[in-house]
Order: sequence, then structure tokens, then C-alpha cells
Amino acid sequence: MLVNNPIDEVKKRENSLKIIRDIIKNQGRENLYDLTGLSGGFIANQNDLNLLETYVGPAIFEEELEELGKKHLGGEKILAVNRTSSGILATILTLVKADSYLIHFLPELPSHPSIIKSVDIVKGKYLEFDNIDDFYIANNTSLIVITGSTMDHRVLDEETFKKIIAIAHEHDIPVFVDDASGARLRTVIYNQKKAIDLGADLVITSTDKLMPGPRGGLMAGRANLIDKIKSKAYQFGLEAQPPSIIAIVNGLKAFKKENLLKSLQRKKSLISMLNSYSFFEETPTGIMISKKGLQKEINGCGKIDKQTLSQIYKFISSSDLCFIWAALLLKEEGIITIPAVSMPGASPTIRFDLSSKDAITLDMNTLYKKIDSSFKSLLDTIQDLDKSKRVLYGNQ
Ligand SMILES: *Cc1c(COP(=O)(O)O)cnc(C)c1O
Repeated sequence: MLVNNPIDEVKKRENSLKIIRDIIKNQGRENLYDLTGLSGGFIANQNDLNLLETYVGPAIFEEELEELGKKHLGGEKILAVNRTSSGILATILTLVKADSYLIHFLPELPSHPSIIKSVDIVKGKYLEFDNIDDFYIANNTSLIVITGSTMDHRVLDEETFKKIIAIAHEHDIPVFVDDASGARLRTVIYNQKKAIDLGADLVITSTDKLMPGPRGGLMAGRANLIDKIKSKAYQFGLEAQPPSIIAIVNGLKAFKKENLLKSLQRKKSLISMLNSYSFFEETPTGIMISKKGLQKEINGCGKIDKQTLSQIYKFISSSDLCFIWAALLLKEEGIITIPAVSMPGASPTIRFDLSSKDAITLDMNTLYKKIDSSFKSLLDTIQDLDKSKRVLYGNQ
């Protein structure tokens, strides 16, 4: 197989970053389309940056953060952390005692690894459920975590959400919601309430997911709990630093519901053009193609005969197919998707997030043509093993 281990994945990423540099140098940033939905962003003007050099800046930004954060998430108090994972760690360090349970409910497995890993650090016990009929609260439970929207953008329905919160509160156990993407996905696309308004005690969101902020985490909730978590975060260096806080503040100011809502229209129009393909699934704000879906399309499209296909699959796995296609989308069409640039271990699923900043300026007919033409290029490429390697790793 072509991509076999974390070192291969790093090499593939480095090749993609080189292609991105080349495109920026030779054709300009406007010929790159970051459709990952994770493009992050760092909005700050010179004035903001000048303030960073004094002690005054943090005082001002933190006050603004408090105001904007409460507007976005609700709650009595706000805390900005380095990443969502950092906030999850700080919360678990604060609230989960050794030998007690953290119980996690989410719409669909798998869970984000930061929850389980943090429970391990405090020597707690962990239970997870994705079916309300199985859900129960064990004796000696310290914390209930609800994931509002998973990494794959599966969204929890509001009724189940409220049910879990009610059960937790009957047992006097605090509820912490991981709403990394959900704080925007659930509220804007699914018209659900904010986690705090549904009764949660604490919530965290990722400031680079579906909003133009930097990689970071924003927490809100009951003041007494936030105070404790904040003090723990400071002890371990998990809090957000002033430069991030500026960009979180500006990202919150720049966040527009309309951009998310417009992605629904864009999705409808793209899907209607892709009607000859069956390989994609809808996501809340775009489409995605799994490794299984991609392989099925290649097998069923009739462009490569069975014997050639079985030859190809001796050397190329279904994940490799995604990685090669992601590299071609980048190199030939200027489209950045996660499998081209991801860190080791990330999912090979190719997602086109149509709420991304660059999707707004991209005409859907152009995007359709780019997808169509690079899929054809993928069919050619995989029939040539050396070329497939070159596409993935460059000329090395
Ligand atoms: C993205 C995500 C996280 C982690 O965010 P980081 O910024 O990578 O720490 C945690 N939980 C869920 C559900 C996520 O989608």
C-alpha cells in the first residue's frame, strides 16, 4: 500500500504544503480554495496588534471576549483555552475525581479522543453511549459529557439532549457539552437552542470550526465552575494567550449565520450537478466522500476493467485512493481538502465544506467541473503506480 504509517502521512502532508506554496507563489492565493471547513483565520488589525505590546491589551480583549462569548454561548462566565482539547482536559482535571465515572453521550461513535485520554490522566472511569435506550448513570459519577455534534457532524436531537440533562440533574451531576462545531451547526442549521439554554452547566466550542477564528476553544457556563476550571487551566498552561484572544474576539464579531445558511443553497446546487455520481453523502454544510464510497464509484464507473482493478488493489488501498484524489484535487484544481494536509491518523474521508470562506467565492458549476475532471484524472493516475507515488509524495 502507498500510505502505510505516520511517517508516510507526514511526507504526504509536506508534499501538499509545497504544492500550496507553489500555487500561492505562481498563481496567487485566489487560485486556492480551502474547503476543509477548518481554515481557521486570524483577523486582527494593526491597532489590535499594537495593543498586544502593553498590559492594557489583554484587559480590553478579555472584557470584549466576556461580552461576545456570552452572546455566542450563553452562561455566566467565559474562559478561552488553547484548544477545545485543552478545555476538555482542564474541565476533567477539575471535576472528575479518581475512581469516579465520566459518562459520555454522543449521537454516534467514535468519541473525540481528548475525553478518554483526559479521564485516564485523572485515573477516572469512562462509559460512553450513543443510544439513549442503553444510557444509565453509574454510581459514583462526577461528570456527564454530551457531544452536541460529532467530528463527522452527526448532530444530537434536542429531545435526547434535554432528556440526558434532566437525568443528570436528578442525580445532581453537572453536564458539560462538547459543542466544538455544534454551537453553530445545531443552532444555525438545525434551529436548536444553545447548550446552556437547554440546561447544560458548561459548554465548549472550537473557535476555528464553522467560524472565522483561530484554532482555540471557548468555554462558558456557571461562574463557580468556570472559576475552578480557569484556575486549573492557568496551573497547566492550557489557557488561550492574548494573540489568540484577539483573533477569537474578532472571529466572533465576523461570524455570520447567513454564511452557514447560504451553504445549504450551495449544497443543493452542487448535488444536482453531481447527479451522475453516487459516491457522496450529504453533510450539514456540504458533501463528503468516504473511502468506501470512492472505491465503489471507481469499481462501478465502467472505466477500468475488473482485471486491471484487482491489479491496482494489490498496491493501492481504499484510503490511498482518497489520499491520491485529495492530492490531485490540490495539484490540478487548487482545492484543499483535509486528507491532503491532515496530521497522521486523521480520517481519509474527503469533505467539501461549502460554508468555508473560499466556497463563498467559488461558483458551484466551477466546483462541479473541478470535481468531475479530477475524478477522471484519478482514474488515469491509479493505473500507473509510479505516477500515483509521485502525486502523493512529489519527486523525491
Ligand atoms: C474538533 C473537535 C474537538 C477538538 O478540537 P481541537 O481544537 O482539535 O482541540 C473535540 N471534540 C469534537 C466533537 C470536535 O469536533
